[in-house]
Amino acid sequence: MHILVSNDDGVMAPGIVALARAMVPLGKVTVVAPSDNQSAAGHRKTMHKPLRVNRVKFPVEGVTAYSTSGSPSDSVALALLGFIAEPIDLVVSGINRGPNQGQDLTYSGTVSAAFEAVIWRKPAVAFSLCDHSEDAEYDAAAEIARQVVALKLYENLPPLTLLNVNVPALPLDEIRGFKITRQGLRQYNDELVERLDPSGRPYYWIGGGAPTGDVTEEGTDLWATDQGYVSITPIDLDMTSYAVIKDLEARGIAELKIAL
Ligand code: MN
Repeated sequence: MHILVSNDDGVMAPGIVALARAMVPLGKVTVVAPSDNQSAAGHRKTMHKPLRVNRVKFPVEGVTAYSTSGSPSDSVALALLGFIAEPIDLVVSGINRGPNQGQDLTYSGTVSAAFEAVIWRKPAVAFSLCDHSEDAEYDAAAEIARQVVALKLYENLPPLTLLNVNVPALPLDEIRGFKITRQGLRQYNDELVERLDPSGRPYYWIGGGAPTGDVTEEGTDLWATDQGYVSITPIDLDMTSYAVIKDLEARGIAELKIAL
């Protein structure tokens, strides 16, 4: 098995090193990831400037690694569209520093790397650790990633569907097990911060506190990790609301003539 590893925290982030190391017993491992931290890059495709790729010395024996000037999804596209000659069987992304739950998925470069993989019909799993801190410890999450891949949970997923895995920040022996979950409800605590540049012109940061969310609703990703479980959420890139289709059809919208 040939496993492609990417992320959004950058090719030298401790989480991707831990993930690549965990994949080594399972197959051949190649890393293609952004050169710098691109957290919250979303599913951005670079179209108006060239992409540069550099071979990098990676701290895991036997792993070939490349840094790119592109986004996380650019990195996966580069690899799958032929920069990596040897066919790839599975794409894993992470381990992200910080959770990717609820509406985070629309911002997440980690999950977008997996979105890109399923667009090119490769199975994909995104891994995130529920710890934002600089000195986050990835060993337990890496062992969870190894187990998820060894269990082949990514096999037989429908088209455009990936697995989004969030691991609680606990020692391995304190993690209570796996829960299959749905997306929960995030609460963002963003604040607009205005400052003045040396010329006196205002500039802005989107600042504020870390996101919180509803951890009380049983069965969600936010609930599972709060309870000490590994959260595994199947994510479908088909964002259609089938419930609203039914509702609009029931209101006869499709039969209405266009008003002239
Ligand atoms: Mn990140």
